[in-house]
Amino acid sequence: MAYQTFRDWLSLLEQRGRVKHISRPVDLTYELTAVSKLCQSQHTLCFSHPVSDTYTQSMPMPVVANSAVCREDFAQALGVSVPELPERLLWAQEHPLAPVMVSRDSAPVKEVIQTQVNLYDLPVPVHHEGDNGAFLTSGVLIAKNPVTGERNLSIHRMQIRGENQLGILMVPHHLSALQQMAEERNEPLQIAVCIGLDPILLLASQAIAPMGFDEYTIAGALYGEGIPLVPCETVDLEVPAHCEIVLEGYIPPHVRKPEGPFGEYPQYYSPQEDSQVVTLTCLTCRRDAIYQTIIPAAEEHLLLGAIARESHMLDVIRQAVPHVRTLQLERGGNRRTNLVIQMEKKTGGDVRAALLAAFACAPEVKFAVAVDTDVDPFDSLDVLWAIATRCQPDEDTFIIPGVHASAMDPSGHGKIGAKMGIDATAPLGSLQSRFRRIKNPFDGAIDLQNYF
Ligand code: MN
Repeated sequence: MAYQTFRDWLSLLEQRGRVKHISRPVDLTYELTAVSKLCQSQHTLCFSHPVSDTYTQSMPMPVVANSAVCREDFAQALGVSVPELPERLLWAQEHPLAPVMVSRDSAPVKEVIQTQVNLYDLPVPVHHEGDNGAFLTSGVLIAKNPVTGERNLSIHRMQIRGENQLGILMVPHHLSALQQMAEERNEPLQIAVCIGLDPILLLASQAIAPMGFDEYTIAGALYGEGIPLVPCETVDLEVPAHCEIVLEGYIPPHVRKPEGPFGEYPQYYSPQEDSQVVTLTCLTCRRDAIYQTIIPAAEEHLLLGAIARESHMLDVIRQAVPHVRTLQLERGGNRRTNLVIQMEKKTGGDVRAALLAAFACAPEVKFAVAVDTDVDPFDSLDVLWAIATRCQPDEDTFIIPGVHASAMDPSGHGKIGAKMGIDATAPLGSLQSRFRRIKNPFDGAIDLQNYF
């Protein structure tokens, strides 16, 4: 596959007639998010005239939202069909391809270099009414292990706290571990935040890979060639040469300031808590840079995390039950809590083994449903039909208390919660008898245009 930049991706969407251009002034505070949410599953939006009380307009840039709006978009970016998505991401992790270094001269992101950073030069939206200000939501953060130098990529919400100051939320994972290592050495952790990236690099940054695994190499495998990187100006890090904007800086040790509230993926506000901060030392960008935002709790945000999790779960569940066909995290569960597993049942214990494997490897999953191969796991109504007709609550469900859970689930107890497994499969060998679905030979073959 040819290397794709954010711009390549946008022109591909443009050719498909997907992009809507909005030239009227749109307020970065609330309005841009509200419009984008209305289109979250249909249109990529390009706002050419964002305005706000704080945005300086000193280097005007458009805002792009909804740069991927459905599974088909991610599948197209990876050059596969929707059902092949999880396997493709796994394949990429097994076939990592190292990045290549290019010179600053061939790096568009170096067209403008400013060592006096003013974050108010960027058109950063305020998304929801309870948010504590404007948050960067699409930046892929690059950092290195202070001991081994191993690179890490991850996405974090970052609040503008001043001209060159950001707040950052780090849930306990790779970046927080690196920051802790730096802090124990009384050192700042150098970081770079890259904005304006195509779905491949965004997805690679979300892959469930072990600590120390360079997510750039996953992107490389998916591109089919090493991603071109260029050195930063003020930190010892490397960033994609073709991205739109790079913010360089560091997380100082032992500094915590209140972060949040912020409207998060479950469609609730996560509360204010003390968290790390970022001091910026440099901004580099294209001369005509495009600012990318990912709307919180909208489809792009939800799918980015979901596809990576689905890929990981499929891998783990298949080790327990090889004949699992596919799975999906449903939209109704914010693509985190409600899992549907489609499987071919071969023995009586298959279903519970698959459900238990899912709970073991995905902390956020709270309800997991297993369905037969004649049920469409991507159609929530079909899944509800299976629960309605193939599940007896007293026999076919089980609850496991006291398991890892998402701290962002307001009904849970911090990071501990319960799991419910739902067996919505028919008894072994009954799909052609008592549980045979009604069907008509014309099903799926009628074109209504021939009738109306
Ligand atoms: Mn990582």
